[in-house]
Amino acid sequence: MSARNHHDVLIVGAGHAGAQVAIALRQRGYAGTIGVIGDETSPPMSGRHCRRTIWRAKRRSIASCCALPASGGARDHADPRASRDPGRCGRALRQPCRRTGNRERRRDEPALWHARLGRGGSPRRLGCDGHDLAGVHGVRTRDDVDRMIAELPSVTRVVVVGGGYIGLEAAAVLTKLGKQVTVLEAQDRVLARVAGAALSRFYEAEHRAHGVDLRTGVTVAAIEGADGAATGVRLADDTVLSCEMVIVGIGIVPAVAPLITAGAGSAGGNGVMVDAQCRTSLADVFAVGDCAAHASRFAGGDVIRVESVQNANDQAAIVAKALTGVEEAYGAVPWFWSNQYDLKLQSVGLSTGHDLALLRGDPATRSFSVVYLKAGRVIALDCVNKTRDYVQGRALVVASARVELALLADITVDLKTLVPAD
Ligand code: NAP
Repeated sequence: MSARNHHDVLIVGAGHAGAQVAIALRQRGYAGTIGVIGDETSPPMSGRHCRRTIWRAKRRSIASCCALPASGGARDHADPRASRDPGRCGRALRQPCRRTGNRERRRDEPALWHARLGRGGSPRRLGCDGHDLAGVHGVRTRDDVDRMIAELPSVTRVVVVGGGYIGLEAAAVLTKLGKQVTVLEAQDRVLARVAGAALSRFYEAEHRAHGVDLRTGVTVAAIEGADGAATGVRLADDTVLSCEMVIVGIGIVPAVAPLITAGAGSAGGNGVMVDAQCRTSLADVFAVGDCAAHASRFAGGDVIRVESVQNANDQAAIVAKALTGVEEAYGAVPWFWSNQYDLKLQSVGLSTGHDLALLRGDPATRSFSVVYLKAGRVIALDCVNKTRDYVQGRALVVASARVELALLADITVDLKTLVPAD
């Protein structure tokens, strides 16, 4: 496949969302040609399986991470080999923009953009000295996985920077692997961006109980090194934490440059603005996944980006439908999960902006839920080892239900009985 070749659909970004679009198109019987390009050096991978594989350190199952196998049926969908040539990606990225601008593309020749060069975003990097030393890792691609797994046998101490899902999942698995783990979070609690304070405190206690040195409200001043490799993390108060590996999980930067800042002129800011069918403001150009900003009723109509596998899957399905003649509006309720130790966290809805967080069950039992409300309506649930609440509570979020608080907090009352009739 060459970037100069014509493709009826060109998917820019060979990550999870890009692969899902190709698969969804074929599942819907789309018969046109599909090109997939990205800067990955390996075929498209499922982000979820990639992470699981990393953290379980099961090297042999890496191959099962591939969303599109490199041979056989994959050639029907796309040609992931193109993703091995960043130069091709760059040329192809520019091509649809020029053609759109010159109005050379036929109306029946859609170009589909997932994001620039790869996933919907790239890991945010530390800006301090030493951020690029050997032994300092982000967690996003198969290459990241390979590098970490190769180093792990010679690593005893790991400093994890960031107390979001990435950092905490890393800490849990590395602890189980017998590593000495320190987690450094800039905010005054972990999971501050995605959960309420009660859940943060619960996870902080769990990690400490498992031997993690978890510090909040700290500032990383520099990564120290010798002979080009990390040897420790220096904090703003000059404390130095010795380690052989640093894992950085401090969020992502959405890949908006090619569509917004690099001249294509799409609307957006912290994300490429899309409508209900994931169309950008550019003709025939769509965006899905981590980079796509959309108005969400689950955020009170605010424009948000949802960084999750579920969002990538659901938006991919919406775009595949739009390209095969079915106009469906994206309105899926966001959901997330995170496995740490023997704790299965399942979340539904968006808790941001809640004015009440109600405990349902006792965290000491390690099986409980937090129900988030805003103006008396249920907007989200975080369920720890409580799949029943998660499954039944989803309908409360979808309905923005008003429920008597005493009933919500009563664990003898099934949540499904509280769902409004219509
Ligand atoms: P995240 O959820 O944004 O958490 C990163 C945390 O690190 C934030 O609290 C952030 O604080 C903090 N931080 C930023 N700079 C720091 C610094 N220099 N030192 C210490 N702490 C710092 O990001 P993530 O955990 O990297 O995850 C990336 C994305 O993948 C997120 O959207 C996440 O939800 C998603 N993800 C989801 C799952 C799941 O669903 N299970 C699993 C993994 C990842 P500030 O907010 O102040 O920047």
